[in-house]
Amino acid sequence: MGRIRILSDNVANKIAAGEVVERPASVAKELLENSLDAGATEVRIDVEHAGRRMLRIQDDGCGMLRDDAMLAFERHATSKLSDVRDLLAIATLGFRGEALPSIASVSRLVLETRAAEEQTGACVEITGGKLLRCDEIARPTGTTITVRDLFFNVPARKKFLRSDQTELAHIGSLVTHYSLGHANKRFELYHEGRELLNVTPVSNLRDRAFQVFGSELMNDLVDLPPKSFEILLPPPYRPPFAREADSEPLEPETATFVLEGLVSGPHLQKLNRNSVYLFVNGRLIRDKVLLHAISAAYHNLMPAGCYPFALLFLNCDPGEVDVNVHPSKTEVRFRHGSQVHDFVRDAIRDTLMEHRPVSSIPLPTSPLPLRERAQANAGYSGEGQRAAELPFSEFSARIQTFAETANGDEPLTQANDQERQLPEVQRPFHERLVYEVPAADLPPVEPRPKATSRVPDTHGALDQLPSDWDRMDSLEALPQLRPLGQLHDSFIVAAGRDGLWIIDQHVAHERILFEQVLRQRTAGTIEIQQLLMPLVLQLTPAQQFEYPRIADELNAYGFESEPFGQRTIAIKAAPAGVRTEDIEKIIVEILEISENELRSASLDEIRRNVCATIACRAAIKINTPLETKKVEWLLRALAACDYPMTCPHGRPIALRYGTKDILKSFHRI
Ligand code: ADP
Ligand code: MG
Repeated sequence: MGRIRILSDNVANKIAAGEVVERPASVAKELLENSLDAGATEVRIDVEHAGRRMLRIQDDGCGMLRDDAMLAFERHATSKLSDVRDLLAIATLGFRGEALPSIASVSRLVLETRAAEEQTGACVEITGGKLLRCDEIARPTGTTITVRDLFFNVPARKKFLRSDQTELAHIGSLVTHYSLGHANKRFELYHEGRELLNVTPVSNLRDRAFQVFGSELMNDLVDLPPKSFEILLPPPYRPPFAREADSEPLEPETATFVLEGLVSGPHLQKLNRNSVYLFVNGRLIRDKVLLHAISAAYHNLMPAGCYPFALLFLNCDPGEVDVNVHPSKTEVRFRHGSQVHDFVRDAIRDTLMEHRPVSSIPLPTSPLPLRERAQANAGYSGEGQRAAELPFSEFSARIQTFAETANGDEPLTQANDQERQLPEVQRPFHERLVYEVPAADLPPVEPRPKATSRVPDTHGALDQLPSDWDRMDSLEALPQLRPLGQLHDSFIVAAGRDGLWIIDQHVAHERILFEQVLRQRTAGTIEIQQLLMPLVLQLTPAQQFEYPRIADELNAYGFESEPFGQRTIAIKAAPAGVRTEDIEKIIVEILEISENELRSASLDEIRRNVCATIACRAAIKINTPLETKKVEWLLRALAACDYPMTCPHGRPIALRYGTKDILKSFHRI
């Protein structure tokens, strides 16, 4: 007798359950997706003992026909696909026909359902994969599924469950996410009768985000209105004989992508990606390409290792994205990944550039994470999403507070924003070098083309303020600020109509120079100064290895350099404005960047980093007294920047103490 045997359905289902059902939240996810696929507009989930004892989901969707109610528990039974070609364009959340049999094989499950077209409904009870009963019942249209004693017959899986608090947070996070993805539907979540989420249908995303996160976060978010992008698809291959038969050249086909959502300004800095919510065609996903595009959008606006809040919806032709990559369906593969990447990155960047949000005092969160944390974050592998990687939300934090008192056996992994340290200074001030702005001929500042409409005047009596004065939180106000003076010869203090501003002169100048160098680099107009004596630099073996990779780039910036014997390079020229004594430091810093962080970085990232280094070295340092004229120039030049919010390393440039907050602090309102 042969040694190979076909596994019984029951065993096969348990194996599938291992892939699909990892914890109570994955049951919630599969059932919730089924309800949404069934067109439900109201979904209610009730949970007991964090979903271990009971998880019930009720929906008002289309329900199942009586005959289908039993069929649904067969392996690979689905109403959503009929043909292999359907797999190329999946428009529903489910399609594998695995969830119900998998869940039923590891729990005691009761399904009650009625389709609109039938007078009576069906009730099916299955325990550990065995059918116990199937009855006709009376009930309204829709479906209710109750899952009890999850993993009662797989003790090994039970052991892997975490604390109630963690499991519940996963469920909460999941329902929250889907509620963000479907603003026009009602979602309710109760744990042992206690309401955790109850959101009624609203007409737009901002309102739903407000329902879920509250008003405080909303102030930090800017709208990303729908932006679309088209890819021209190559014509399908036609064999020569077919070409002759049909001589008309085919119209080139296009694929359209539409992105919309909400993103935070660069001053909101999270230490992990838990606040990034991505939906592709309504499906909650985790995708490396999109996550990278978001990070790239904030590159040079935020410190490395920090992440924004982003709630993004990308919609495209289902044929452009393959969701059949992993059983949990949280991974996708784009057919045109790199174009999608660039589109998403640019759409976010453009939005930030238009809105120019400014930090207020106190900072909503504090930047600069520890390097280790940054590295831990960088290690995100993008593997098939396990529920543990589902982002936590502010909502989960709410669960945490109450769960801690109930059973505080395990802290949530989420870092507490309030506990973070304020940014530390990267290097001692005395090491920073001065780039003297010549007072006489300050470079002219080209105004931004867009009219600065928000703040007509910088100050005036309080009662003359327009009604929306407390909402003027944009850096559009910069050019109209009235400088009052300098604090410690380092920070510019200025009055604006919407409050008091403090501007870090070093980082402000750094941003100005960064954009200037980047522009000149792109246009090939970097001014060069020849050195009287070539500067000879000794390289370490690692630097020697790195040098050829960036040599062209260095030259393009005006650092004319060439190999000069063993492990030595000679620099003959440098960009104008950089002091001779800084040249060596800049080159070494650039080599170090590429050594440590940029092994896999793109040329664009290297460029930005080179610019950032030059700008940082050349910018006015702190502890430098400035004349009013220079300060005015700095404010105007900053206002003319594309991204005046943060310096190229991600530190905030300007803080605003809003008039409303000032009035509040003095108990005047
Ligand atoms: P899939 O979602 O991949 O099709 P499932 O095992 O999750 O597979 O579900 C099997 C089938 O049961 C679905 O294709 C659908 O026809 C039906 N079904 C499941 N849940 C519901 C529901 N809440 N409302 C209506 N039909 C449902
Ligand atoms: Mg399903």
